[in-house]
Amino acid sequence: MEFSEVCRYFDRIEKVSSRLEMTGILAEMLSKTDSREIGQIIYLSQGTLGPKHLGIEAGIGEGLLVQGIAKATGYPEDEVEKLYKEIGDLGLVAEKLGAKKRQSSLFAEKLTIGKVFSNFTKIAETEGKGSQDSKLKMFAELLNSASGTEAKFISRVPLGNLRLGIGDPTIMDALALNYVEEFLLVKKTRGEIDAVLKEKNEEKRKEEFGRRARQKLREFIESKYNIFSDLGEIAEILKKKGLKGLDELSMQPGTPIRPTLAERLPSAEEIIEKLGMCAVEQKYDGFRLQCHKDGNRIIIFSRQSEDMTPMFPDLVEAIRKQVKAKRIIFEGEALAYNEETQQYFPFQVTIQRKRKYGIKEKAEEFPLRLFAFDIMFLEGKDTMPLPFSKRRETLAKAIGKGETITLTKSIETNDPKKLEEFFLASVENGLEGIIAKDLNAPYTAGARKFAWIKLKRSYKGELSDSVDLAVIGYFKGRGKRTQFGLGGLLTAVYDDESDMFRSVAKIGTGMSEEMLSELESKLSRLSQKGRPARVDSETEPDIWVKPFYVIEVRADEITKSPMHTCGKGKDGTGFALRFPRMIKFREKKPEESTTVKEIIAMFEKQGRVQLQEAETAQEKTQ
Ligand code: AMP
Repeated sequence: MEFSEVCRYFDRIEKVSSRLEMTGILAEMLSKTDSREIGQIIYLSQGTLGPKHLGIEAGIGEGLLVQGIAKATGYPEDEVEKLYKEIGDLGLVAEKLGAKKRQSSLFAEKLTIGKVFSNFTKIAETEGKGSQDSKLKMFAELLNSASGTEAKFISRVPLGNLRLGIGDPTIMDALALNYVEEFLLVKKTRGEIDAVLKEKNEEKRKEEFGRRARQKLREFIESKYNIFSDLGEIAEILKKKGLKGLDELSMQPGTPIRPTLAERLPSAEEIIEKLGMCAVEQKYDGFRLQCHKDGNRIIIFSRQSEDMTPMFPDLVEAIRKQVKAKRIIFEGEALAYNEETQQYFPFQVTIQRKRKYGIKEKAEEFPLRLFAFDIMFLEGKDTMPLPFSKRRETLAKAIGKGETITLTKSIETNDPKKLEEFFLASVENGLEGIIAKDLNAPYTAGARKFAWIKLKRSYKGELSDSVDLAVIGYFKGRGKRTQFGLGGLLTAVYDDESDMFRSVAKIGTGMSEEMLSELESKLSRLSQKGRPARVDSETEPDIWVKPFYVIEVRADEITKSPMHTCGKGKDGTGFALRFPRMIKFREKKPEESTTVKEIIAMFEKQGRVQLQEAETAQEKTQ
């Protein structure tokens, strides 16, 4: 496909504000591609050059981008810089200057998606001495042949964000749209959907039938994505072999599985009421790691499916020594442990292990312990459908003796008092709380079911939990904060039913001066003119940003509010956080933020503890 055609689609997607339209346009574009191109388009549309776990990056910083734009368009660098300061988006700068180039290009050729992708892949592979010059040359070569619109999107690729608002759910919806006819050729599927629709009138039935069929197919695609986190390859398989090919896709060491997520409940009683006899494990506050072993090859993925292997040589060695299985995928939480005091270090210490340089020294200073808690794959077998109790047994057998990797500390009980005691002891030990686990539940990749329920301490030592919110906008700093360019944030929860972000809080406290500058520099790169396509908010920030960063936030209470759109009903009131304060950045995707449903559930469950807390907080502010 010619790149100009891809850009015409991208342009249309950028302009629409309804997600339904966006999905339709994306589906149309994907239907027109061949199996070689479809993955490339999917990666590029998200500003990446491959699946996240391969971590392929162009490695072109802003400085080099400016140079490239100057070189290709014939404008001096300081003019490019000046324009960038004015409009704040290098893509738009490239578009503007690319449309009125000062020099005609001798070697211009028609760009295809294949050419753009392979140039970027080469750019990403170029390393070492003189690599910056080579990268610059290849990048400028692309711009040379690009029209204004093409230049806009090409320049946004190295920034890792095409600003289209295309997330994984939109891609899966578009694929479902394109393959629903094939899906319905399977007689059984038709029958199953028909069976639930018997009584409706003909027209309504038809409409509902189509909707349900797409939803069912979407669930199937997602179930595959959950065990194989590479939508580019999934789309390629669909193109080549159709749904049958996708059906045959199974998990493989080396490709991350989407992690299961924990629900929350406010008290030990409610947890026992829900689960009965259950496993109760200590909850460690470190990095969640998914460890893959395939013979000699060991790969460690973060919760975000990034390859972290080079950062943790101590864990790689421990896996080699302690894990007897040849092929295995298991999960655990890693944290720094203080050998001298025999206590866990807080998260602020553990996080120092996440680094690109000085890895060896830090590994010696703060060695990690890995607390294994689940197993998904063993010697070619999918262990996810097994009940948790069986998985834990399997995990225990697979991990040999040693200091570095141990199983999480846990008890089994159906007594709220015992659960509470275990919780308090964990907190006293410097841990975050507990996670209770349903002994009979399978591992549900990518889902939040009541198979895991967390109970966390709040910073005051009471039983309230923090929430994770996506940043959707910010307010310029006033007074003392003018110098940072940012004074507060507009944040949102995720509505997983409609793939939308709905506003829930304006946050102006909890940020240190360093955090304010960091936030400004991170967020200004994602700024955009109008409200982003998947955002629903009636509160207008000074600057809108595409949902990308997630922050952890504490609040005293959830209140009803006409200001925010989270859970907004017919009566015009939604939910908001009272006294929200930022704690830290979270390593999560925006789609993994706290959901609208969770906020409503938290509101309903808001027990006396939280109310008391709010009253005390109010007294303090009076
Ligand atoms: P949260 O991020 O607050 O929703 O809590 C869930 C996270 O707790 C998981 O993603 C893990 O990173 C972490 N965690 C710590 N200890 C455990 C454990 N014993 N079992 C499962 N997850 C744990």
